[in-house]
Amino acid sequence: MRTVTVIGGGIAGLQAAVFTAKAGEDTLVLDNGQSLVENTSNIQNLVGHDSVAGHELLNSGEKKLEEFGGEKKEETVEKLERTDEGLKVTTGSEEYVTEYVVIASAGILDYIELEEIELEEGVEGPNMMDKHIVTDESNRAAENVYVAGLANSWEYQTSICIGDGAKAAINLLTDLRNEPFVDHDM
Ligand SMILES: Cc1cc2nc3c(=O)[nH]c(=O)nc-3n(C[C@H](O)[C@H](O)[C@H](O)COP(=O)(O)OP(=O)(O)OC[C@H]3O[C@@H](n4cnc5c(N)ncnc54)[C@H](O)[C@@H]3O)c2cc1C
Repeated sequence: MRTVTVIGGGIAGLQAAVFTAKAGEDTLVLDNGQSLVENTSNIQNLVGHDSVAGHELLNSGEKKLEEFGGEKKEETVEKLERTDEGLKVTTGSEEYVTEYVVIASAGILDYIELEEIELEEGVEGPNMMDKHIVTDESNRAAENVYVAGLANSWEYQTSICIGDGAKAAINLLTDLRNEPFVDHDM
């Protein structure tokens, strides 16, 4: 059984996975290479960057994930369901049983077969998500299921999605360890 499986390795999913991998948790990211941030060559509103391209952010996220012992696989998730063994994630080629899931697949949510998940309307407009998942203040949508980025919110900026990935991971780790999780680089 895996500990954390992140569905969607865009900017929110990678940030969540970097936190859980850095915390020493077995972390798998499943992604099919369609991140919206790939379309952006000149993000100017991120603290720490004068200008940065979306693909540079994704590359550095993947590098960090690897550095901290996480794994990314190029697979399309076809089903997410709850079984007696844990949460089961089925892709075109594999089945993974995992304790926790982070959903970070932006507007693609049709693979979710969890009764507890509730969807709400998004915001109309170019590139906006027409729906997203209802979560509580800790990004939790159901037992052991966390959500990050545009899957969780209509707020359409890279910086917000990065922060949201971190927030989902911190809350997941707090739940997993049953005490407030703190990640301090000294
Ligand atoms: C044209 C354009 C310009 C933009 N310009 C800016 C800008 O200037 N500044 C700014 O701050 N933001 C910009 N954005 C917004 C930014 O790209 C998004 O806010 C950000 O990418 C959302 O992050 P995310 O992780 O939620 O989704 P994404 O980065 O889209 O990641 C979702 C990931 O999930 C994967 N996925 C989906 N379904 C599945 C599945 N079934 N199985 C496996 N993987 C799956 C996808 O392949 C993708 O990699 C722009 C977006 C676009 C489209």
